[in-house]
Amino acid sequence: MLQLAGVLADETHPAELTLKSLDPHEHAVVARGERRFALDLNWSGVRRLCHQPGCDNQPVDNQIVVCTEHLAQCDVHALLTMTRESGHYAAPETDPALLEGLPEPDLLVTAAVGIGAYTEVVQAWLDTCFIPLNEIDDMLFTEDRALAMRHSLERERLRLDRVAGKEARRLRGDTRMCQACGTQLLGWDMRAHPLYCSRACSPAHPPAPFLAAFPV
Ligand SMILES: [Zn+2]
Ligand SMILES: [Zn+2]
Repeated sequence: MLQLAGVLADETHPAELTLKSLDPHEHAVVARGERRFALDLNWSGVRRLCHQPGCDNQPVDNQIVVCTEHLAQCDVHALLTMTRESGHYAAPETDPALLEGLPEPDLLVTAAVGIGAYTEVVQAWLDTCFIPLNEIDDMLFTEDRALAMRHSLERERLRLDRVAGKEARRLRGDTRMCQACGTQLLGWDMRAHPLYCSRACSPAHPPAPFLAAFPV
């Protein structure tokens, strides 16, 4: 319980701790607000759980609060929330080169491609993690630093475009026709799900069942 108290010490939301399930020989699942924890009753350890109720996997990290399996089932609202959290967490790096190639945006944009939300998610990542293009000159006073930030931003966008393109090819597989209108699929419209020719044809993704965990 002392470990749990430590884990909860940084929690800011006042909420009751509630017991969700108890297996006397294995572990108890407790929840505080939307956060869930497993208490291992054999070795007294505490670990965070994926936000999806009933899921026993660990979340990716403290910002991407679901496991990789449930990340692929998130809706755009949940993905954007986690992308901004993750970007803010990474952003204190002052050297823009250190913000390039982090693993978190790869996971987030890969999930986003599967719901036709790549453009929103990649933009949210770049806007929170890097200084937005139109604010660079105002925020970075030396020309060298402004140029370095511009180059890092452009390289990271291109890199994430490639990560997303690879996932789009994987999802498209041998499909040759738009699944809605039957048009031949040539390139991939990054605003659309890879199985559809355009955003207009892409189906709306259903809200994730754990949507309540992601306040606007
Ligand atoms: Zn999960
Ligand atoms: Zn179409």
